[in-house]
Amino acid sequence: MKEIYLDNAATTKLREEVKQEMLNYFDVVYGNPGSFHGKGLEAKNAVEDARERVAKLINAKSREITFTAGGTESINLALKGLAKAMKDKGNHIITSRAEHHAVLNTCEYLEKYECCEVTYLEVDKYGMVNPSDVESAIKPNTILITIMYANNEIGTINPMAEIGTIARKHNIYFHTDACQAAGYCDLDTEKLNVDMMTLNGSKVYGPKGTGILYAKTGIQLVPLVHGGGQERNLRSGTENVPGIMGFAKALELAQTEREYEFNKLTKLRDKLVNGILESVSKTFLNGHPTQRLPNNANVSILDIEGEALTLYLNEYDIYTSTGSACTSQTLDPSHVVLATGLPYEAAHGSIRFTLGKETTEDDIEKVLEVLPGIVKTLRQISPVNVAVEHIVEARSKK
Ligand SMILES: *Cc1c(COP(=O)(O)O)cnc(C)c1O
Repeated sequence: MKEIYLDNAATTKLREEVKQEMLNYFDVVYGNPGSFHGKGLEAKNAVEDARERVAKLINAKSREITFTAGGTESINLALKGLAKAMKDKGNHIITSRAEHHAVLNTCEYLEKYECCEVTYLEVDKYGMVNPSDVESAIKPNTILITIMYANNEIGTINPMAEIGTIARKHNIYFHTDACQAAGYCDLDTEKLNVDMMTLNGSKVYGPKGTGILYAKTGIQLVPLVHGGGQERNLRSGTENVPGIMGFAKALELAQTEREYEFNKLTKLRDKLVNGILESVSKTFLNGHPTQRLPNNANVSILDIEGEALTLYLNEYDIYTSTGSACTSQTLDPSHVVLATGLPYEAAHGSIRFTLGKETTEDDIEKVLEVLPGIVKTLRQISPVNVAVEHIVEARSKK
């Protein structure tokens, strides 16, 4: 059976061009960028070239780019680094309930160990942050607003520029987790009004464990990792040269192809969503109907467990997930789907299909062919029978 990989929000397959680009930096340009000889200089030049290319893609300066070991580290550096550096100026952070755990758990840490105060904004029934809520939450001690660009579970794209304008008006730093947006959205930091931005390689067909933090000139951050002083003292340790080169290449390709991919995947996604809503009763789309990532289809199917559905689909070599990869080990329903106002019993039946470059129309047809039968089987053994009206009413209160 052909493998049908529909979990591209968890991670993407390394693309061939990126793999080829990286190979050279394992055993040809293998020097330490910190070494004062030709072999080191060669590697240093490569890293600085990658930094410049990444900076250009997001309309930033190369000294504003710090390479990290992924999105999580970048987020930790932004949030902890700023909170520590601004201790004397304030301690209040504004975020939302729908963020990735890299943001939520870092905020919890800051509340517990760094005396920070965090406002977790509610989101609307589509999982979107309302810019006026951001403005209302601002206090004299607010130092940072951190709101994700696009949601990894339900695909909703937030109104970045509006939130950025508010942050700027009040002279507060604005950080965004743009890991999921990088393949499909404009990353121009000037247009978005962002001061800090997190990106990673593993969501754009690049290597895992790679990413960046963009931090606008003038922002002071206290480093998390101390040592040899690499990355302008912000992130010590020998640079992951193959990873950095792979990340830069992957981001370049992703941004070049983003409009083409957006249009192509939107059609496939709509076919999938419409197909499910038409062929399976008691189903809802999660996330915004239009302001969403083109590759994300997250649906709630009443009276079944999302986990059971993913296991049944797995038997057909169709790979999906119920939420973020980080929470798939637990049976708790997604915090994001719950934040959209869906009751617990409906949130349990949510399933996420995230399409990618290699997804074909045949793949979507295969899913639509097997899904109704699996749902029927699962419903026959299900002890619950939730009234649709109950769900509709719960969401309409949002
Ligand atoms: C994947 C992801 C992260 C974490 O990135 P890692 O590179 O796995 O550390 C953070 N935020 C979002 C939105 C993500 O999708």
